[in-house]
Amino acid sequence: MADVDTDTLQRWLRVFAASVAEHKDELTALDAAIGDADHGANMDRGMQAVVDGLAATPADPAALFKQTGMTLVKSVGGASGPLYGTLFLRMAPATGGAASLDPETFAKALRAGLEGVVARGKAEVGEKTMVDALTPALDALDAALGSGQSLADALRAASAAADEGRDGTTPIVARKGRASYLGERSAGHQDPGATSAALLVAAAATAVAE
Ligand code: ADP
Ligand code: MG
Ligand code: MG
Repeated sequence: MADVDTDTLQRWLRVFAASVAEHKDELTALDAAIGDADHGANMDRGMQAVVDGLAATPADPAALFKQTGMTLVKSVGGASGPLYGTLFLRMAPATGGAASLDPETFAKALRAGLEGVVARGKAEVGEKTMVDALTPALDALDAALGSGQSLADALRAASAAADEGRDGTTPIVARKGRASYLGERSAGHQDPGATSAALLVAAAATAVAE
């Protein structure tokens, strides 16, 4: 089975950046309903900076994750900048310095990233955040790899689970982030961060399938 090298990871970041740009207005509209209408602009600015940084190509996955995380922390701002930044920063040490990652190591790195998001943001599943898309996605990824599926198939399953988790945020009353200030009025709106997180997982599936 093909391993995940820096070329594939760069493709992931480029596909995610393009997808964020494409969905920028949608992310902003979702954030306008329950936040401050900047999630599309925040993520687009951050991912453009990440793509610009790929010109000076990091040597290995750990360096690429670290550079990506630092760029996101610096350039995104808001709640999502430190959280997405932490996701990538925590992936770096989980690679063990390998030049390319086998599927289990890639999944382990993603899991470490999610644990970093949870440690930093203190959101549990069901509180209407990006965690609601990422958690079922990584559970599906582990399950699919555990049952012997290829990484490409496992990431497709993860992407479907992320989409479901994203859709599941709509009825939830937000308990974390800006949307929580609205209390009950946050129900009935899809969470912007869960929406961008589903794009991140979909981008991984695309990058690995290519
Ligand atoms: P801000 O709310 O500061 O304007 P963004 O609009 O860029 O930041 O991002 C908002 C998204 O961040 C939310 O939709 C939610 O998914 C995510 N988020 C906010 N707080 C948390 C948290 N504590 N844990 C996880 N995700 C969070
Ligand atoms: Mg916002
Ligand atoms: Mg903001």
